[in-house]
Amino acid sequence: MTRVFSGIKPTGHLTLGNYLGAMRRWASVDQHRADALFCVVDLHALTVDHDPARVRRLSRQAATLLLAAGVDPRLCTVFVQSQVDEHARLSYLLECVATDGEMRRMVQYKEKAARERDRGGSVRLSLLTYPVLMAADILAYRTDEVPVGDDQTQHVELTRDLAVRFNQRYGHTFTVPRATHPEVAARVMNLQEPSSKMGKSDDAAVAGPGIVYLLDEPDVVRKKIMRAVTDSGQDVLYDREERPGIANLLEILAACTGADPEALSGTYSSYGALKKETADAVVEVLRPVRDRHQELCADPSYVEEVLRDGAARARAMARPTVDAAYRAIGLLPPV
Ligand code: ATP
Ligand code: MG
Repeated sequence: MTRVFSGIKPTGHLTLGNYLGAMRRWASVDQHRADALFCVVDLHALTVDHDPARVRRLSRQAATLLLAAGVDPRLCTVFVQSQVDEHARLSYLLECVATDGEMRRMVQYKEKAARERDRGGSVRLSLLTYPVLMAADILAYRTDEVPVGDDQTQHVELTRDLAVRFNQRYGHTFTVPRATHPEVAARVMNLQEPSSKMGKSDDAAVAGPGIVYLLDEPDVVRKKIMRAVTDSGQDVLYDREERPGIANLLEILAACTGADPEALSGTYSSYGALKKETADAVVEVLRPVRDRHQELCADPSYVEEVLRDGAARARAMARPTVDAAYRAIGLLPPV
């Protein structure tokens, strides 16, 4: 059976981008057709300046939102990365096949490192090596497919390179995975800055009005979408290069309604009409997620139980592969 793995970082409140680009497909498609694991990748949240209590809170919230979005622990494995030691164990071995040049070429490293420097901070070494840990997350489970937004393509390519290199040098150990992306909304853009991706760790004070959070109240969602930056044109055309703001709204609307953004573009006579319909569609898509999240918050012991069970299952799946990698690379067997 196809093995699917994907994760989400507890670096901020989850966004509409996370939902349309990744989580929604995990719930509606992946968990039904594959042996799937979905992970709150908390170790990745330590790569930038962080508040320990906030990371813990956001980890629980992300896990709760995964379940609220319809990820069903009876169909797949839901767990927290740091509760399964195999990820960190394997990451070190993969650091021994990766090169520093490869790491420095990662676009997200360059962007996030620049952001840390702009904030007057220093760049943590883990920010540079984080794609290796991500490779370990994926390879530990002999994953075939990684359903992600398109910003993760480069990291999955690196994961493939590391798997191939390890297999060639030390004998066949890892499955070489591939990324899969949704047909529309693979990269939801910030509503106020449609040339930038909507990202949950973007500074909320600056970028917040352009980000729809999954737990935003409906009237807040409407306000943000109605105030989305467009351009001075009039016609509703789907053109990501020339009309990025309108194209983003068309993609969001298409993703929420199952339509095609190109086909939708002909049906609106004004930007205002498009915005109103997009806002309504987003509110409707998020409503059941918010409701279910509220129900789940009333019973935190259920989420704890799911995560405990998920970690045990994940550990059992990862351990044989990671042990095999230890042996292959030249380490003594466990005693
Ligand atoms: P951060 O700013 O901390 O990197 P993020 O919002 O990018 O946060 P991640 O945890 O890095 O979220 O990514 C989780 C999943 O959501 C990944 O599959 C990623 O590709 C997807 N994703 C993130 N942002 C978007 C977006 N704007 N559009 C579509 N998919 C997205
Ligand atoms: Mg990201």
